[in-house]
Amino acid sequence: MNKWNKLDKKNMVKLLLSEDKTVLTELQQAAYKVKNREVGNKVFYRGIIEFSNICSKNCYYCGIRKGNQQVKRFRMQPQEILECAEFAWKQNYGSLVLQSGERTDSEFVDFVEDILLRIKKMSNNELGITLSLGEQSEETYRRWFQAGAHRYLLRIETSNSQLYRTLHPQDHDFDYRFECLKILAKLGYQVGTGVMIGLPGQTAEMLADDIIFFQENDIDMIGMGPYIPHKQTPLASQAKNWNKQKQLQLGLKMIALARLYLQDVNIAATTALQALHPEGREFGLQAGANVIMPNITHTKYRDSYKLYDGKPCTNENARMCRVCLEGRIGKIGEEIGYNMWGDSPHFKKKQKQERKDA
Ligand code: SAH
Ligand code: SF4
Repeated sequence: MNKWNKLDKKNMVKLLLSEDKTVLTELQQAAYKVKNREVGNKVFYRGIIEFSNICSKNCYYCGIRKGNQQVKRFRMQPQEILECAEFAWKQNYGSLVLQSGERTDSEFVDFVEDILLRIKKMSNNELGITLSLGEQSEETYRRWFQAGAHRYLLRIETSNSQLYRTLHPQDHDFDYRFECLKILAKLGYQVGTGVMIGLPGQTAEMLADDIIFFQENDIDMIGMGPYIPHKQTPLASQAKNWNKQKQLQLGLKMIALARLYLQDVNIAATTALQALHPEGREFGLQAGANVIMPNITHTKYRDSYKLYDGKPCTNENARMCRVCLEGRIGKIGEEIGYNMWGDSPHFKKKQKQERKDA
């Protein structure tokens, strides 16, 4: 039995703290092998449309928090969102992600429902749709599911409720966020979650617990990335020892550990990695990730959707993003899963099991 199959909290913590280059290279190579065995050598694209930066929340780390008055707020028109979706479809991207600030008012809920129906119709039901629109009521999640969304990404941010409290105002409720993950799974969504890595006050033990949390809650997809300070937020002043290189390494270690521990889930190489290094996402793929989210938002809005400082590609259009990504992915020996939804094998196995049990 190889040593990477026997990961537990103690040796995950050890690896998270290790600076031994040989060990870390071995760790990533082992994770890459498991990725190829469990989910194949295809990288799946989810074209991400960041359609509005209007947010009713005030997370201390986020650049588009309600309290940041320096942000110019926008909401894309339905027609503009459809144009981006059509671009993704014509480029044979299998899936889309619709992301925005959090709103729960009925105008917003109706707006999203309508857009889902229109994207499904425009693409003959071919585009898979992931939503990343924060905490909502069960009824809202149900309506959006019925309108065509089939995956939902809601990061728990940290599985440690005490740390969560230091990152959010008091009325941001950890327990309800956790509850949302359960509601989403119950409704039939493929459920994605994740954390920010390298937050002020976060320890290696907490990060190892995050990975265990993903397993205990039977999560299908992981989207996690390094925390990057945004100057206009309260948390930035607590990130004095923040170091780009260390954050990148920690982010890659977490991807590799998650792959080794969870095996058959989808794991995204997030844009935050690329913000730390031009090849950050490729490093993520080499450490065990299998999903990439190219930004297909209209260029004119990208500058206003900055969750953190130094976000890459804000002045590149979607076509340029595609060309540059294709080259980078080919270079590291991976293929792109065009025209495929690329569902999480973990989710598919669960569905099979449920059918057997029924
Ligand atoms: N409003 C939705 C989706 C948009 S925010 C939500 O909060 O779920 C998407 C993710 O961006 C958040 O979950 C958070 O993990 C990440 N994020 C926000 N600020 C960040 C920062 N400064 N550094 C890294 N990631 C950040
Ligand atoms: Fe809003 Fe999401 Fe940013 Fe929190 S992380 S302020 S909910 S956009």
